[in-house]
Amino acid sequence: MNQKAVTISTSQLIEFLDQELKNLPDNRKGENKKYTVKNAVLAAFSVFFTQSPSFLQHQRLMKQKKGKDNGQSLFGLSEIPCDNQIRKLLDPIPAKLVFEVFRTTHQWIENNQVIEQFKCLNNQLLIALDGTEYYHSKKLNCPHCNYRKHRNGSVTYYHQVVTPVIVAPQSKQVINFPPEFIKKQDGKTKQDCENAAVKRWLLKNPVEREKKQITLLGDNLYSRQSICELALEQGYNFVIEIIESNNDATLEELCDLLQEKTGVRVSRATMGRITIKLNYSVKKNSARSRKKKRSRMDNAKIHLGKRIRELIEKSNQ
Ligand SMILES: [Zn+2]
Repeated sequence: MNQKAVTISTSQLIEFLDQELKNLPDNRKGENKKYTVKNAVLAAFSVFFTQSPSFLQHQRLMKQKKGKDNGQSLFGLSEIPCDNQIRKLLDPIPAKLVFEVFRTTHQWIENNQVIEQFKCLNNQLLIALDGTEYYHSKKLNCPHCNYRKHRNGSVTYYHQVVTPVIVAPQSKQVINFPPEFIKKQDGKTKQDCENAAVKRWLLKNPVEREKKQITLLGDNLYSRQSICELALEQGYNFVIEIIESNNDATLEELCDLLQEKTGVRVSRATMGRITIKLNYSVKKNSARSRKKKRSRMDNAKIHLGKRIRELIEKSNQ
């Protein structure tokens, strides 16, 4: 099923970004204001345009390309500040000051019916939730860093982010939502975690109920009652990974678990095919007592949306 690609152009996206950069704060004192804050943001954003592994290579590429493809003319940058200058200018500016650009882009995507290409499973939008790490260092850290202590006594500081995106099986493109940063919150001494970040994101992004049906997709990290309840309160459906959280279960136990959670009984052969698809290894037999098995199943904090039934039934055919 080949759908037409999403047609929002790069220049259109840059224009949306441009609109949001007019009133960014600039707290610099003194005369040396060769580069504006706006140009620093555009220069930082342009790195994604060339997809270069280093900023230096990116700058070289931007200068090399001539004519239409020239990133410098596309971004309206006559001179590109170096990465240190960009860092200095952008560090004091909270990312959320440019988040409005996501809303503008979504509006465009809806007005131009592009969103229709992403609907599936009875007219639903699917939002995949996942966390990713974008910074780590053994030395450099800030008050918002999370950290890992290693056995040898060393410490790694890191920053992660949850990046919700609209996905569809028929589309290679995704549509981004504003990310939720996993970072130590202001005034908190406790480290932040992905679950807390997802909850913050859910609170900020309730579904406009009459307009949309949205199903959240998540791995077993999100199979917590508090997240599922909040997702429902905010108007979402959800499908959360079931198998990963039971990676010591046998095929028979997984069949029981699925039946308990969904009301659908599949054969062991089908379950075998599902687990192969998911690259999941299963114990051949289990010496556990019934009681233990029972309590493990009770403890599996798994909540499935209606949709998984269809998926299972499909693979059963
Ligand atoms: Zn930090």
